[in-house]
Amino acid sequence: MSISGSISGVNRVVVAMDGPSGSGKSSTARGVASRLRLRYLDTGAQFRAMTVWMLDHEVDVADPAAIAARAGEPAILSGTDPDDPTITVDGQEVAVAIRTQRVTDHVSAVAAVPEVRRRLLELQRSIIGTGGIVVEGRDIGSVVAPDAEVKLFLTADPAARAARRTAENGAGSVEATQADLLRRDKIDSGRTTAPLTMPEGAIHLDTTPYSLDEVVQQVIDIVDQAVGAHSGPPPSPGSTG
Ligand code: C5P
Repeated sequence: MSISGSISGVNRVVVAMDGPSGSGKSSTARGVASRLRLRYLDTGAQFRAMTVWMLDHEVDVADPAAIAARAGEPAILSGTDPDDPTITVDGQEVAVAIRTQRVTDHVSAVAAVPEVRRRLLELQRSIIGTGGIVVEGRDIGSVVAPDAEVKLFLTADPAARAARRTAENGAGSVEATQADLLRRDKIDSGRTTAPLTMPEGAIHLDTTPYSLDEVVQQVIDIVDQAVGAHSGPPPSPGSTG
């Protein structure tokens, strides 16, 4: 089935893509958004930007109350072009800063604070607006956009996830990366507010055996089918509207 027949539905679609780090989520979400000319939102980057701000302002990131007290302050702006996603905090570009090990070490603790999640949830829903977007994270299909037409849950074997993430980082050992991914999975799955979980109605894709192009194509096929199903049968000849 071709996507072109249902292009108006695609313009409004919300694709929720959840899963742990290294499952192939980010590359897949960007690839799908780029090919379908949709917007793209990386919610992990927003939690990372919040963490950069907390660290820069010397907030004790081991103290949830200290984080909660200041969660309303940073102005976070996400660009949604899948070919050039940008992120700024208080007007400063932080695309590089959000990927440092220090931020990776603390982001899951910051993301577990309910006030942080409430603040970013509001921001995420305002960006999603009327749709036409691929949104990736941990709680998109369950909390942020539970009515999304397409919900996907991506996973991969821990060894494959660690190998991909180490290659992306261009440094570090696969073993250390794997330990770090499993540490964050544990915090993300165990927190009380919006834990990482497979949402109701989600399609599970285990990306371990597939190339990025193959996974992107699988997702495009799923979106195509979902949009076709939502747009209903074609109008009968002579009908108006
Ligand atoms: O996707 P990424 O690995 O960059 O996300 C960084 C962290 O942000 C995750 O480990 C998780 O703690 C948090 N996160 C979250 N909810 C989301 C997206 C990310 O809690 N929707």
